[in-house]
Amino acid sequence: MIEIIDSHTHIDTAPFDPDREEVIERALAAGVTTMINIGASEGFLSNDRSIALAEKYDCIYATAGIHPHDAEVEIDRGRLVELAKHPKVVAIGETGLDFFRDWSPQDLQYKWFRLQIEIAHEVKKPLIIHSRSAGEQCYEILKEMEAEKVGGVFHCFAEDAQFAKKLAQINFLVSFPGPVTFKKSEDVRTVVKEVPLEQIMVETDAPYLAPEPFRGRRCEPAHTIHTAKKIAEVKEIPFEQCARILSQTTRDFFKI
Ligand SMILES: [Zn+2]
Ligand SMILES: [Zn+2]
Repeated sequence: MIEIIDSHTHIDTAPFDPDREEVIERALAAGVTTMINIGASEGFLSNDRSIALAEKYDCIYATAGIHPHDAEVEIDRGRLVELAKHPKVVAIGETGLDFFRDWSPQDLQYKWFRLQIEIAHEVKKPLIIHSRSAGEQCYEILKEMEAEKVGGVFHCFAEDAQFAKKLAQINFLVSFPGPVTFKKSEDVRTVVKEVPLEQIMVETDAPYLAPEPFRGRRCEPAHTIHTAKKIAEVKEIPFEQCARILSQTTRDFFKI
């Protein structure tokens, strides 16, 4: 059986309130057997919601963290460590730096980022990195704080293949979302082509970034299939083989 894992989704959020159950059923029916629900949005709120989902559904795992957009949330280290230790929490984040939107002060973004790397070491779980217009800055901190010991992934990867190579050396993967399927995303597909398949995961980042043919609509985990198919096409290998390698990488990464 073909299986695909959505390595980064936000189905705990409000856009899924009306039909969350159906969304999960559609994912399973499409072959998306497992979903990693990212517990970082709306401060600590989404951490609690993610863990509740992971407790309710075998096919869902959670992460614990504070998003760089939420860096102004009061720092509660003890609470975050407690969440991070939950048996169904498989990674820390998403955390990192976002200098593109710059919705929160940079010094606070750095503070939370460093704290979450520290916690990743403490609980021995990998990091989910959100980096926009801040690739080098993220890389420097990860290197300095020896994040290669826990590993991690740059989600919605937007840098070039050269940068992915640097990341491989510190034990980091890259993850691609739906836009890889867009007609005009030729440069992203070039990166997909050059990065070894074993360093790649797929994601939806739902509710955003729906792949073709759903572009512009609400994205949901079932759509991960379309992104994975495009990656197989770019890599010029059968979809089944591509799916097997993507899933194995993702299972190894999250230890699930
Ligand atoms: Zn993100
Ligand atoms: Zn996200």
